[in-house]
Amino acid sequence: MENNKKVFNNVLELVGNTPLIKLNKIASSFKGNYYAKVEAFNPGHSSKDRIALYIIEQAEKKGIIKPGDTIVETTSGNTGFSIAMVSIIKGYKCILAVSSKSSADKIDMLKTMGAQVYVCPAHVSADDPRSYYEVAKRLHEETEGSVYINQYFNELNIDAHYHSTGPEIWNQTEGKITHLVACSGTGGTISGIGKYLKEQNPDIKIIGVDAYGSVIKKYHETQEFDEKEIYPYRIEGLGKNLIPTATKFEVIDEFVKVTDEESAHTAREIANTEGLFVGYTSGAAMQAIKQLNEDETFTKDSNVVVIFPDHGSRYMSKIYSDKWMNDQGFFDTIHQEAAESIQI
Ligand code: PMP
Repeated sequence: MENNKKVFNNVLELVGNTPLIKLNKIASSFKGNYYAKVEAFNPGHSSKDRIALYIIEQAEKKGIIKPGDTIVETTSGNTGFSIAMVSIIKGYKCILAVSSKSSADKIDMLKTMGAQVYVCPAHVSADDPRSYYEVAKRLHEETEGSVYINQYFNELNIDAHYHSTGPEIWNQTEGKITHLVACSGTGGTISGIGKYLKEQNPDIKIIGVDAYGSVIKKYHETQEFDEKEIYPYRIEGLGKNLIPTATKFEVIDEFVKVTDEESAHTAREIANTEGLFVGYTSGAAMQAIKQLNEDETFTKDSNVVVIFPDHGSRYMSKIYSDKWMNDQGFFDTIHQEAAESIQI
């Protein structure tokens, strides 16, 4: 795909080839060089455009779907938006089962993009019939001529990043990347990029970011599913209460856990230091870099690439709302007093 074409035939031609942008201020006191792969430059404003387009085109190639058929998925919002966008251009119907943790903005957007949306409770176990996994499965079974993308258990999710994001990063850094830092939800992003990069140079460190309240880090370390690790948290799209097969644990060297509060503040910091208005998990990934820097993981020769998965506009009613930040107790007293005085 050429991004310097004068005219594009449709929006899908703009998926991928996102820029790698040097971080000049936020990491200026850290050892090494830091570059962000800014996935908000995809036309659907997230990395999920890549997997939606890739998986649907693979299904077309195999003759599994034809225009007029239905695509079903579970999604925290971004994948749903991307599938809805691809469905519009290619002529599919789109049904989405969404977690109630997703922001109202995301749900409204999905509806605007023509999707039929089912909102399911967030804090039930994955095998509960009310969970968005079970609801999606049922909708798929009940809808004739439907395809279930199943991003958590679909290895094509990994392949999408193996064939696009991985080679892009390798070429953009001219093979000089030493560390990749990426959030893990389905694990498709980190696994696909990680697999590609390790094939080019096995010394590259692949570092995953997980949430407190998720089982992923512990599972990576012990190969045991520890239910005690699971409790509610606020970041959408990061971590999990199950083990996705779209995560290739063997290509990941280590996981770092981050808090909701620090990730939210770091996302705001990225905006007002680098001018990059990115989402909550971008804050989480950058927060992990801060912690790794304190642990002396990096040297002056490190070339660290961090994935910023989506755009900040999807979090206006959350981390970019002072009221929401206050309601979570994420602002200190001074900040709260300032917010109150503005209201008067
Ligand atoms: N950030 C956001 C905002 C996401 O929606 C997701 C996907 N759930 C991720 C990060 C993690 O990407 P992946 O699913 O490829 O691990």
